[in-house]
Amino acid sequence: MATPPLAARRAEIFDQLELQHPDAWTELHFKSPFELLAATILSAQCTDARVNQVTPLLFAAYPTPAALAGAHTEALEALIQPTGFFRMKARNLVGMANALVDLHGGKVPSDMDALVALPGVGRKTANVVRGHAFGLPGFPVDRHVLRVASRIGLIPASASEDAVKAEKKLIALLPPARWTRASDTLILHGRRICKPKPLCERCAIRTNCAYYRR
Ligand code: SF4
Repeated sequence: MATPPLAARRAEIFDQLELQHPDAWTELHFKSPFELLAATILSAQCTDARVNQVTPLLFAAYPTPAALAGAHTEALEALIQPTGFFRMKARNLVGMANALVDLHGGKVPSDMDALVALPGVGRKTANVVRGHAFGLPGFPVDRHVLRVASRIGLIPASASEDAVKAEKKLIALLPPARWTRASDTLILHGRRICKPKPLCERCAIRTNCAYYRR
């Protein structure tokens, strides 16, 4: 039987991965766009599980952008210290909260340009918030996505260290309605199976994976 065209194989790869990880969704806990934005800022260089231990206390102390904008630095740093890089993260949280109050009426904008203009917010964080808090198309690209997509052959090696380039390549493979789920799936696959030392024998897509077939 002839090998299906590359585009069909890529769609099949995402189908198979979604079957292997039916629970794919952000592991950060949140109840509002503001909480998800703050949690995602805290998740840099930190596990989602650790962030989830910190955010209930954080949002009890600072439940709104206005409250966080007025936070005392030392008290805020002490609260978020377990997530690492806490001085920079405290600056970013307060800066982000002030920008929400000053420029957006205390609400998180859903527009990509407005999101990435907030302190501490890059495309990955903006896409996390757009996809999970607003239900808008967004394909967050983190180190797991870069590693897994490059190994499988979904993106060329030349894009494997450039998140913006990789995002452009990946969103071209799927309709917008599938982007967020696809990103969550690649992230979970990278955490559970396609780790830095991959567990290929447990992988649902190994016959379609360039790394496995080489
Ligand atoms: S076959 Fe191995 S390298 Fe390829 S995606 Fe699966 S775990 Fe990763």
